[in-house]
Amino acid sequence: MEVTEIFYSLQGEGKEIGRPTVFIRTSGCNLRCEWCDTQYAWGRGSRMQVSEVLKKVKGFPIKRYCVTGGEPMLQKDAMELIDRLADMGDVSVETNGSIDITPLVSAKAMISMDYKTPSSGMESRMLDDNLSLLNKNDQIKFVIADLDDYDFALDIIDENDIAAEIIFQPEGSSPVKTLAERVVKDGLDVRVLPQLHKNIWGDKKGV
Ligand code: SF4
Repeated sequence: MEVTEIFYSLQGEGKEIGRPTVFIRTSGCNLRCEWCDTQYAWGRGSRMQVSEVLKKVKGFPIKRYCVTGGEPMLQKDAMELIDRLADMGDVSVETNGSIDITPLVSAKAMISMDYKTPSSGMESRMLDDNLSLLNKNDQIKFVIADLDDYDFALDIIDENDIAAEIIFQPEGSSPVKTLAERVVKDGLDVRVLPQLHKNIWGDKKGV
């Protein structure tokens, strides 16, 4: 597999927010989101065997792993890595919503799937068949930049029976307060979360 970085930090997004986590960021992505904050993962990375990745992550003090990207499901040995990590600890997999997640359903991993909103420019690439594959232990994340994104997310939620936890995350420069107040006013049962790691360390690699 190709790997951009392996690092240890706090989980900055989603329902595991704040938990110390080892991140394995694979290289390459099939999407080009307008507001992508990991463009450095689009290109080639270091070639590593699954065994080399496992050896490296064993050097960190916590056995909670997040396989992210780029888009990790593009790696042909992604499932081997996920299964091996699941034998060692808790695993989450961040995937962008454009790749069939069927192989992940039987894995012992929490699926953290994005559903790209119009501000990303990638909403037409989403695979709606994925939505019914998520279970209550998984999460689906909508990045909300503006009212169009918000209304789009509401339509997707209304039109589909989504069992997973629903996360609304403000896009980088959008204020969380605006999104939070809108969710409260509309009585939505979704979780509004900022990107914790950016609040703590700013927008940089390796955190
Ligand atoms: S899917 Fe993720 S890595 Fe790929 S372009 Fe979008 S935000 Fe960036």
